[in-house]
Amino acid sequence: MTSDQTLAVAAPVRPTLPIVGSEARFPVRRIYCVGRNYVAHVREMGGDETRDFPLMFQKPADAVVHDGGTVPYPPGTDNLHYELEMMVAMKSGGYMISPEDALSHIYGYGICIDMTRRTVLGSPDGPRIPWELKKAFDHSAPCGPIYPVADVGHPSSGSIRLEVDGVARQDSDLSLMIWKTPEIIATLSRFFSLEPGDIIMTGTPSGVGAVVPGNVLVGTIETLGSLTVTIGEPAVPA
Ligand code: MN
Repeated sequence: MTSDQTLAVAAPVRPTLPIVGSEARFPVRRIYCVGRNYVAHVREMGGDETRDFPLMFQKPADAVVHDGGTVPYPPGTDNLHYELEMMVAMKSGGYMISPEDALSHIYGYGICIDMTRRTVLGSPDGPRIPWELKKAFDHSAPCGPIYPVADVGHPSSGSIRLEVDGVARQDSDLSLMIWKTPEIIATLSRFFSLEPGDIIMTGTPSGVGAVVPGNVLVGTIETLGSLTVTIGEPAVPA
């Protein structure tokens, strides 16, 4: 795309995330997600605790909601859930990254919430249904600021907690991730060329639950600060 080309409609704006301690911002290319990555959450969803092949999906980059922002209650569900997760932000990538090399491709870490339509109204449910309706809707990706590896290292343990209106709902530890960050990157890169700007949501611990307009969600991860979002009025009035 050169500057003398005329666009027929307004160019989409690429979302960016703030970087703690820097004026620069982190451009978001793609949002990859890993599901069922804490045993207690696998169990609460009715599964077992084996290291089955990790469940992988994407959200659109423009689903990002910033710290302090609002998630309008989406249409098509009466069962909107939060899933607090650690976010990995990539500075480089490619295909076929080895677990041993994976950490060298990470720019930083942060906190995110994988907002989920646990129930999709008007749609047959079940494993054969593509996950876009459950996971890839507008405003489904609240993301906090990025903490550079240079400042926080590579968090692999530490508390991960979410409160709804001041009441603890999720309270676990990063060390309980089934698939560790290097394994997640290695596995994703078998199927996708990871690139600078990609972020990865690494799965949620147990305690997921439904929220309603007015609820305030505060997620914290040890060394990665906090992320606050409010559930807003319905995006589509009833
Ligand atoms: Mn999730």
